[in-house]
Amino acid sequence: MPDKQLISSLIERATAAIVAAEAELTALDQAIGDGDHGNNMRRGFQAILAVKDQLVAMEPGAALQKAGMALVTTVGGASGPLYGTLLMSTGKAAAAGKSWPDALAEAVEAVKKRGKSDVGAKTMLDVLVPVVTALQAGADHGELRRIADTARESTKDMLATRGRASFLGERSIGHHDPGATSARLLIHTLLDVLDGRA
Ligand code: ADP
Ligand code: MG
Repeated sequence: MPDKQLISSLIERATAAIVAAEAELTALDQAIGDGDHGNNMRRGFQAILAVKDQLVAMEPGAALQKAGMALVTTVGGASGPLYGTLLMSTGKAAAAGKSWPDALAEAVEAVKKRGKSDVGAKTMLDVLVPVVTALQAGADHGELRRIADTARESTKDMLATRGRASFLGERSIGHHDPGATSARLLIHTLLDVLDGRA
């Protein structure tokens, strides 16, 4: 698929997936946060969709940086700056000539730094880290999907030590992390678009 068509599909499909999952993400964040994750993600992706024509006309690396900026400026919650960092850093590394797996790995490191966090804290990183590590190791799309599913599932029994859910202490256990859930969804959507799935 040519870059432009791919970027256009990605923006449309990711926004549609987030809009469709808004209620689920809200409910998850109501259980262990402040209930705004669905709204935050929808607003952020709709802001990206609003500049789709500009993004499609740009080089992929530059487009990702601009899309990340849109998230940072639109979303007040923790997820805006964190997903924004993920997209901006990926775009920056890609524009500098890094391969997509290496660019994503660099971006995940930037998210860790920005969130002062790592795997095991019950966050989006619990999905992003194993998926990007597997991607770098050459995993195929089916494997990446399964890793994303298992990783998201694993957050249910975790104790949150970062983000708002950490305020709940032990009571955060038993609920899936909202950000790990949106990360899994976005990974599935990306893979679906790359595979040409309708
Ligand atoms: P807020 O927590 O500000 O209300 P959201 O509800 O939109 O923002 O996003 C919450 C999600 O952000 C969490 O479920 C978690 O996955 C992720 N998150 C929060 N803090 C961190 C952090 N320090 N590092 C990584 N991810 C984080
Ligand atoms: Mg929240």
